[in-house]
Amino acid sequence: MFKAILIEGSRGDQQVALKSVEETQLPEGDVTVEVAYSTLNYKDALAITGKAPIAKTYPMVPGIDLAGVVTESDNPDFKPGDQVVLNGWGVGEKHWGGLAEKARLSGDWLIPLQVPFTPRQAMAIGTAGYTSMLCVIALEKQGVKPDSGDILVTGATGGVGSVAVAILAKLGYSVTAVTGRPEEEGYLKSLGAKQILDRAELTEPGKPLARETWAGAIDVAGGQVLANVCAAMKYRGVVAACGLAAGMDFPVTVAPFILRGVTLCGVDSVMAPKADRLYAWKRLAEDLSPELLDSMITEVSLDDAIGAAGQLLEGKLRGRVVIPVAG
Ligand code: NDP
Repeated sequence: MFKAILIEGSRGDQQVALKSVEETQLPEGDVTVEVAYSTLNYKDALAITGKAPIAKTYPMVPGIDLAGVVTESDNPDFKPGDQVVLNGWGVGEKHWGGLAEKARLSGDWLIPLQVPFTPRQAMAIGTAGYTSMLCVIALEKQGVKPDSGDILVTGATGGVGSVAVAILAKLGYSVTAVTGRPEEEGYLKSLGAKQILDRAELTEPGKPLARETWAGAIDVAGGQVLANVCAAMKYRGVVAACGLAAGMDFPVTVAPFILRGVTLCGVDSVMAPKADRLYAWKRLAEDLSPELLDSMITEVSLDDAIGAAGQLLEGKLRGRVVIPVAG
């Protein structure tokens, strides 16, 4: 038997509890992993609270990330004792995930734990942090450089936002952090933000084109916030959009794109190819200060993860949640 958070029931009528599960119930896969650490991402919080249809089948073990040790493997790339990391691939949505003491998965989804990270640090980064790095890489690929001008990061006290602020600042960019929590100014400045912008300034419908302000932006919000960000980009500015914390809609005009040559890059971490993942993790090792990563962590036990999911969606947690799983 092993402990797992289990989502049971059906869409719209789900029950979530920490339960003991028979090992024979583990799904199919060629690698079995003893989970050392997991984490709570926005998507995990949606799955646990049922606020969005993340679990595609029931029962489901949530958890889109895990770090642990291989205990059994029929996959030529992994052997017992190997330390591995999983981010995404539909795990925690369509396939049992990381908020459990054991997981059985396809070895094709795993990457070796990357030097110099510990399993705890890998989960402090998690999908949120690896997505931040994908967003930074997207800006770089489009030619945004530290001397291009100011970079905007929305949802800055959240997981993606915190890591993005820290990486960009370390790379020498001048970062403006957008937050709905002005009381976190000290935290955001400690991560390297130069300026703080009140989220309220981006939530109301604005003009198709606003004053040219940002050379680049990383947006976790979507909705009206993303529309206003696009309207305020400099000529040939670049926006990396990865989230929907403000909503799925996107009430923008074509003006920023056809009159200012703004580029909107969509960023997806879930199905990103392995080579992109390995490059992002390599860059995280180079461009994210371990001390700043430490300052982002709230540690929550597996028993308390269900309650923490609600807190995360209410904006009561900041930075990254780490969940020690191994007993
Ligand atoms: P968090 O909950 O850690 O952070 C989200 C932050 O967004 C909050 O802390 C808050 O920051 C801000 N926020 C909350 N509500 C609103 C709102 N109504 N309008 C604007 N900002 C808001 O989540 P994550 O950082 O883990 O994820 C952020 C988003 O990115 C989510 O939508 C998630 O689904 C998405 N995501 C997408 C991925 C992909 O592959 N595309 C991968 C990972 C995440 P503050 O209080 O500072 O304003």
